[in-house]
Amino acid sequence: MDQSDDLSLKERLKECGYKFTGQRNDVLDVLVKYSGRHLSTEDIYNIIKSKHPKIGIATIYRTLMVLYRLGLVNKLDLDDGLSRYELVKPNEDHQHHHLICSNCGNIAEVEGDLLESLEKQIFLKNKFLVKDHHLKFYGLCEKCRQISEDK
Ligand SMILES: [Zn+2]
Ligand SMILES: [Zn+2]
Ligand SMILES: [Zn+2]
Repeated sequence: MDQSDDLSLKERLKECGYKFTGQRNDVLDVLVKYSGRHLSTEDIYNIIKSKHPKIGIATIYRTLMVLYRLGLVNKLDLDDGLSRYELVKPNEDHQHHHLICSNCGNIAEVEGDLLESLEKQIFLKNKFLVKDHHLKFYGLCEKCRQISEDK
């Protein structure tokens, strides 16, 4: 994410009545810096802690909840019971899909919605307007697939 994305994010936050404090800024900075990654509260805590040893994990958790309620952060719940967080991409009204490797746990993203025809069918058949979705695919990433084929 470049500087201008960062700015528009902070503008969006201000519009939502979001108050900037040092600690909240730290959480945001980490999410911007590690965009494309999916970080747990613990991951974010460990990154910030190296700079600000006094920060508490509860502060980070509360900040993430605020950002989530404002619709600025996506939450990805995995089977290990940990939620991962990422910034909502500015031009995304339906959430992107995630590919989760059952072997190494790597999380990759699918570009594009790709569900337009399914969403249209649901609208026609079920009279239901799809506004968003959380789609997780489980399988093997390229690296793990190659290792399992070599055996
Ligand atoms: Zn969609
Ligand atoms: Zn893998
Ligand atoms: Zn994602």
